[in-house]
Amino acid sequence: MRPARLAAGIIALAAVYVAVARLGLGVDAVGGLAALVWPPTGVALSALVVFGRGLWPGVAIGALLTNLWVGAPLGVAVGIAVGNTLEALLGAFALAHVGGFDRALGSLRSVAALVLFAALGSTVVSATVGTASMLSNGMITSDHTTRAWLAWWVGDMIGDLVVAPLLLTLSKPAPAWTRGRTREFVLLIGLLLATVWLVFGRGEQAVLSPLRQPYLVMPLLIWAAMRFGPRGAALATFLCSAGAIWGTALGQDPLAGGTLHERLLELQGFVSVLSITFLCLGAATVERHVLLEQERVARAESERAVRVRDDFLAVASHELRTPITPLKLQLEGLRHMADKLDERVRERIDRAVRQTERLARLAEGLLDVSRLAAGRLELEPEEVDLNEVVDEVVDDLRDEASRAQSTVRVTRAESAHGRWDRTRVAQAVGNLLSNALKYGKGLPIEIEVRVQARSFQVEVRDAGIGIDPGSHARIFERFERAVPAKEYGGLGLGLYVAREIARAHHGEIRVTSETGHGSTFTLVLPRTNHTPAE
Ligand code: ADP
Repeated sequence: MRPARLAAGIIALAAVYVAVARLGLGVDAVGGLAALVWPPTGVALSALVVFGRGLWPGVAIGALLTNLWVGAPLGVAVGIAVGNTLEALLGAFALAHVGGFDRALGSLRSVAALVLFAALGSTVVSATVGTASMLSNGMITSDHTTRAWLAWWVGDMIGDLVVAPLLLTLSKPAPAWTRGRTREFVLLIGLLLATVWLVFGRGEQAVLSPLRQPYLVMPLLIWAAMRFGPRGAALATFLCSAGAIWGTALGQDPLAGGTLHERLLELQGFVSVLSITFLCLGAATVERHVLLEQERVARAESERAVRVRDDFLAVASHELRTPITPLKLQLEGLRHMADKLDERVRERIDRAVRQTERLARLAEGLLDVSRLAAGRLELEPEEVDLNEVVDEVVDDLRDEASRAQSTVRVTRAESAHGRWDRTRVAQAVGNLLSNALKYGKGLPIEIEVRVQARSFQVEVRDAGIGIDPGSHARIFERFERAVPAKEYGGLGLGLYVAREIARAHHGEIRVTSETGHGSTFTLVLPRTNHTPAE
């Protein structure tokens, strides 16, 4: 800060300090000096936090003038001023060194730091130095020391808990409000002032006296904290505290009777708890908003990533599929020629054809997934005999079955006619059967076509490795697998595609399985109005 600005800041702070101190000393000052409510502590702390600790002479001058003004001997006034200045410096220093302290009090960490280091901690210095000064000068007797120390400490603490949060939160620029929000704020403050007046003010009418309960302000404070964050909480607790102190000083307070001093002590407890509670609620509200915002950004980011992946899938699967068809044709041509050639050449070509077919199926699977992701699974329904479809699928996978060394036994229904997309239904059954072969440990597989009152079903049962029930839902999702990739190849798409095909037909796929006890997958296709009656 430039010297001129610094000097102006110091003078302004000293002036504000003296003005605010006069208010504090008006309320039950012990020995004329230790006030039960000491707002200047909050002013001093906020000034040093916001404008820098270089302003400390402002606190010293303000405190010195205040004490001289109320008639303290010079030695005592200097002692008290030293205590007050150290308190403010210590509080500001501690808050500056708490990692991530936010003076808008938008985090529980910041509220905790303010309460612990400034309100409860730094105030001990001022109370101790102040009481010691008064004691050494004989302004208080030793039997009054504890009472004076306590009053000093709690009074300063309330300054840090009630005044500092208001000034600190107001010192940070906030986004402009909409008109609706401004209206809501005006309504809230209006209701709060009315309630404070009702509870702590001159409620002489007998009809109102049952309503003079301090807890009536709670809903309004919750409203302030949750809708207007730490600023709202700080302002609302400040207004309530000011109202409560004013009412108590006038002897109108609803808190228990007794001397002004006793009532003020009780009030101090009320005000402190109120402030800490609602500052925490205000901070928690901000933290919640921050988390929700982070979550929203993360969701948008992951949705974008999924879109990029789907676009990539669409392009990649298309590109992959393009050369496969001519490659297959070439190989088949070669195989044709190879009939006249060496047995070993023919075998190799056969193997190459099989690998190409596998490649074609993989590319086709990827293409299906990108079609499904884009919602472009178009069905071409026709009259279909489910028995026939199953026979064809088993026939198509005959080679695969013999390589897996599994037998496949089919139990047909008497008649299973319906209107479905033949190719897609065959694809779904094919995926279930090829899984049964892959994970079936070479044991026999059974396929049963069943006709039920409301649906047609194709059940594929194997006696293989089975699936842990915890994974049953997951394996139907894209790219999800429940086996180690090293042991079993695959992309984790077969069940996803099969389920989407079933869903497109308004059906579903059910699974029952346990690890080590085989699996049963059932394709369920509902009977539709189009289905010919049996
Ligand atoms: P992929 O077989 O390519 O991994 P799928 O979508 O067809 O993809 O299957 C997903 C997962 O479900 C498999 O990785 C496997 O863990 C499990 N699974 C599917 N069918 C069976 C089955 N018949 N027996 C045991 N596990 C199975």
